[in-house]
Formats: sequence, C-alpha cells, structure tokens
Amino acid sequence: MRLDKYVCKSTDLSKLDAAACILAGQISVNGVIVTEAATQVHENNTIEWGERRLVARPFRYIMLHKPANTVCSNKDEVYPSVFRDQGIEKTEELHIAGRLDADTTGLVLITDDGRWSFNLTQPSNDCHKVYRVTLSRPLTEARGHDITELFSAGIQLQGEAAITRPAQLDILTPTNVRLTITEGRFHQVKRMFAAVGNRVIGLHREQIGQVKLDIKQGQWRHLTADEIRSFE
Ligand code: URA
Repeated sequence: MRLDKYVCKSTDLSKLDAAACILAGQISVNGVIVTEAATQVHENNTIEWGERRLVARPFRYIMLHKPANTVCSNKDEVYPSVFRDQGIEKTEELHIAGRLDADTTGLVLITDDGRWSFNLTQPSNDCHKVYRVTLSRPLTEARGHDITELFSAGIQLQGEAAITRPAQLDILTPTNVRLTITEGRFHQVKRMFAAVGNRVIGLHREQIGQVKLDIKQGQWRHLTADEIRSFE
C-alpha cells in the first residue's frame, strides 16, 4: 500500500498530516528516509517515525444493513451517509464494495482492503449478488419471449454495447422476484427491468457471494473469518 496510507493505518494521523510528516522527512523505510507519499510499502518493511516502529492496524471488513434514503458515500450528500451515527471509527479509511442507490436497502460490504473489494466487484470473478425486486407491473412475457430466458440470455441495456452477463430470475409472485447477477453496472437492476418494459419500485440486496444479510436495518457487524476468506 502507499506509504501515506500505511502511516494513517498505524497512527492517529489524518491523511494530510501523514503526508506532511513524510514530506518533512520524518518517516524511514528500511532505515532510509522516504519523502514521497505515494511510495509503495509492505508490512514486512521496517517503517519508522523517528524512534517509533509503525505497525499497521489489521484490515477491517464490515457488513451493514443499509436503510432507504441514505447514500453509499463517506460524506452526507442529498441524503445522510450510511456511516452517519453508526459509531464506526475512521470511516475516511473505508470504502464500500458495490454501492447501492439511495432508495435501495440491504447488504453493503465495507472495508479498507482494496484487493479484497476488487475480488467481489470484478465481474470476471463471478461473485453473485442477490436482489429482491418489487415491480410496478406484473411480470408476463416480454414481446413474446419468456422473461426468465431473456434474463438468462442477457439483456441489452440502453446506451451500452455489451449485453448483461447471464442473470437468474426467480419469480416469487407476479410483482415480486429474486434476481441474481454477477456484475454491478450503473443502476443495473433498474435498467434491466426497464429494458423489458417494467419498473422497479422496491429493491433490496440480500446476499453477496456467500455472505447473507442477517442483521436488522440500520445495524452493522464485523464479518467472520469464514466470510472474509470466501472472497479471497
Ligand atoms: N441495481 C440498481 O439498479 N440499483 C442498486 O442500488 C443496485 C443494483
């Protein structure tokens, strides 16, 4: 990771203060003063601030049950951030792996481990995301085609060259479905149903890979070791 990030993760310094410390020549890597904040370092390196050896805190992996009318952002925007009033420390170090729209509820995974979140957001890694979807109109066929076959063959989204990867549609009631996809394109679920002449009026993420949402809305918990490993 970058040296400034390492300094943040091993001290109480903000990113700006860490960068100032590095620029001022106060940080050494394997005995050599380094003044470039972007220098890549590894936990096996000896990183010191004066006499003090810096040891990075372990990565954090969190599940949060997102309420509606919150934003998947570290800062409040039109709606409050999902981090607001959660008591999660140093949220500026964290990022959300696979954001949800403001009106979508459900499972959000949060971490400061970029490699781990890459594993679950890269389509080629085939990580399943499961959504419960409420529709404005009963699902029938679309232009003479069976709708589940259309979703499994791939949907042409407006303005995109490539069709969507195969998706599994389970019809629970005519206006309630479960959709499993392996990508995270912009507003993907809403756009997939728009493409077949319907409209999503309720969207909730139940599962990502092996990790199932099992906490109440507005709550969060650390992931278990098995859950963390399931994305490695
Ligand atoms: N697809 C959407 O359209 N919205 C979300 O929040 C998640 C997936």
